[in-house]
Amino acid sequence: MDGVHKSLARRPAASIFIKSAFALSGAFQERKTPAARRCEAPVREAFLTDSVSAAAPSGRPVVVLENIRKSFGQLEVLKGVSISAKVGDVVALIGASGSGKSTLLRCTNLLEIPNDGRVEISGEEIRLESRRGVRAVADRKQLQRVRSRLGMVFQSFNLWPHMTVLQNVIEAPIHVLKESRAAAIERGEAMLQKVGLYEKRDVYPSFLSGGQQQRAAIARALAIEPTVMLFDEPTSALDPELVGEVLRVIRGLAQEGRTMILVTHEMAFARSVASHVAFLHNGQIEEEGSPQKVFGEPVSERCRQFVSVQHHHH
Ligand code: ADP
Ligand code: MG
Repeated sequence: MDGVHKSLARRPAASIFIKSAFALSGAFQERKTPAARRCEAPVREAFLTDSVSAAAPSGRPVVVLENIRKSFGQLEVLKGVSISAKVGDVVALIGASGSGKSTLLRCTNLLEIPNDGRVEISGEEIRLESRRGVRAVADRKQLQRVRSRLGMVFQSFNLWPHMTVLQNVIEAPIHVLKESRAAAIERGEAMLQKVGLYEKRDVYPSFLSGGQQQRAAIARALAIEPTVMLFDEPTSALDPELVGEVLRVIRGLAQEGRTMILVTHEMAFARSVASHVAFLHNGQIEEEGSPQKVFGEPVSERCRQFVSVQHHHH
C-alpha cells in the first residue's frame, strides 16, 4: 500500500470516495517551500502579494508532452499530440466536445496512461513500462512524487462532502504531504483568502453555491503548492451568473505567474488570459499559437469555424 492509500485507510467510512478523489486531486507527498504567511489582505491584493510557490526559474519547461497517443479500444483519441508549458505559461486547450481535451489533461497527470509518447514534469520523465503489451507506470513512488506538484481542478468540484471547506483544503497537506496541522491551516486559510472564501472555511460544501464550491476546489489544489495547475472546464457545470467569480480567481492565478493548462469553452476568457492556445481536432493539434493568432487569424478552416461558432454562442 502506498503512502496515499495508507493515510486514506484511516477513514474507512468514505475511503472509496476519498481514494478516488485523491487520485483525482493529484495531491500527494513532499513539499519544499515554506508555508505561505497568513494573508490578511483582501482577495484582490492577495494575488499580488503572495509569492508563487515552488516556481522554477522562468523559461524552464514545467510540462512537456511529446507525441502522446491514446486509444480506448478501437477508438484512437489522441494521435500523437505534443505540447509544453514553461514556467508562467497559461496554455488554453480548446476544441469540440470529444476532441480529446480531457484525455490529454488526464495523460498529463497519468490518470490515463498514454499508449505512446513521453510525459515530463519539471524536467523529470514519468517512467512507463510495458506489461504483457499494456503500458503501465513503472514506478508508483515516482508518480506520487511528481503528482504532488500537480494541482487538478475539475468541472464537478469533487469536494469531500463530509468535510468543511477548510478540512477539504488541509487534508492533503496533512495526510499526504505530512505537514503539521498548524502549517496546513495557516496556508489553507491563506488560500481561502485568495479565492475569497475565508469566511466559509467552517461550512460544509453542500451549503455553498457551485461557484463557491469550485473556488474551494481551487484553494484545495493550491494548498499542495503545485508547480502547475490543470483545469478541466472549471466553469462548465456552473450557472451562468456564477461563472465570473471563478474566472476571476483563475485570472488572478494567471496574473501572479502560475503555470496553468486550462481546458475551457470560455473563448473570450481564453483569449484574454492564455499565453498559448491549442485547438484540438480529431486527436491532433489542428492549430496553435498566440491567442491573437488562433482567435484572430486562424489558418485552419476547422479552427476558423470552431472559433466563430463559439463566438456566436457566447
Ligand atoms: P473532450 O474532453 O475534448 O470532450 P474526451 O477526452 O473526454 O474529449 O474524450 C475524447 C473521446 O474519448 C470521446 O469520444 C470519449 O467518448 C472517449 N473516451 C474518453 N475517455 C474514455 C474512456 N475512459 N473509455 C472509453 N472512451 C473514452
Ligand atoms: Mg472534456
